[in-house]
Order: sequence, then C-alpha cells, then structure tokens
Amino acid sequence: MIDQQIKAVIRDIADFPKPGIVFKDITPILKDPALCNGIVDAFIDQLKGTRVDVVAGVESRGFLFGLTLANKLGVPFVPVRKAGKLPFSIKQKVYELEYGTATIELHTDAFEPGQHVLIHDDLLATGGTVTAASELIEEMGGVVAGFTFVVGLNFLNGKERIAPLCDKIVVLAE
Ligand code: 5GP
Repeated sequence: MIDQQIKAVIRDIADFPKPGIVFKDITPILKDPALCNGIVDAFIDQLKGTRVDVVAGVESRGFLFGLTLANKLGVPFVPVRKAGKLPFSIKQKVYELEYGTATIELHTDAFEPGQHVLIHDDLLATGGTVTAASELIEEMGGVVAGFTFVVGLNFLNGKERIAPLCDKIVVLAE
C-alpha cells in the first residue's frame, strides 16, 4: 500500500529546524521514481469525481508533486509563494503563526473566478498554511476543490481544522 511505502522511506529529523521539533523529511521519496509515480497516481485515483480546474502548490515542497499532479490531470499548475517571490501582480494573505505572522501570495491571473482550485502541499501539520491558501483563493473568486497531502501529522488535528473549508481531503500517509 502507498501509505506503507511512504512511511518506510520518510525519516524523522530531531531538533529541525528548531530544538524540540521532529521534522518529517520527505526527500528520500524523491529518490524513488516508482514511488513518486505511485503518489501521483494515488492522488489521481482519490480525486476521481472531483472537479479540478487548477492545482495550487504551496511553496516549496508543494511544488514537487503539485506540478506533476497538474500535468497528469491536464490542468494548469500555479505556485502559492511566500512574500516577495512572485514577479507579476499579486494578491496576498497574511496569517497568524504561533509566533508572529506569515504571508502567502498568488499571481492575480492564477485562475479565473469560479474555477475549482485544488490545494496541494507535501505535509499537513496544523493546517494553518492551507487555511490561508484557501482563504486567499476564495477572496480571489476561486472555489476550493479539495486538499491533497503526501503526509499528515494526525496529532496536530489539521484535518479537523480544514474539514469545514472543503470535504475533499486526501492524505496518503498519516
Ligand atoms: P501547517 O501550516 O499545516 O502547520 O504546516 C504545514 C507546512 O509546514 C507545509 O508547508 C509543510 O511543508 C511545512 N512543514 C511543517 N512541518 C513539517 C515537517 O515535519 N516536514 C515537512 N516536510 N514539512 C513540514
């Protein structure tokens, strides 16, 4: 099963990026082309019946599978980036972190009003990042089609947090 294959290769890195945090390192997945293909195929399988017009990948690890997923679905990919990275005109969303705030941005021509935008990231932790992405997409007139993640950290209850935003939530390994 894909969840077991993912869990077998991701690794826990203690005290990264700060003391006390155990970081899930997904980079070993990228060294396994069959597993990478399997991940994208699993997303496509679980998205059957869901309208997706655009895939929005969250910087930076959401770009890794987000682009391939969009390509295989035959729809555009758009990057959700941190402040100051996108060159064209942008819309932004400031959101609360545990300490301070963060900002995400999208190009103003990322999608058309009414289009269904799938939000993709590598990992679901508290759900704060994708909640901000979803609010930005809705403020720009888009409809959130769903969320896809390679990994989910259940103990942080991210799924419960984002469930009210859209009921299509795909987490391959949790
Ligand atoms: P959230 O906003 O859900 O709390 O955090 C998720 C975001 O932080 C994602 O963009 C994800 O890439 C990153 N992130 C947080 N913790 C980890 C982790 O342990 N491993 C990886 N790969 N990303 C993480």
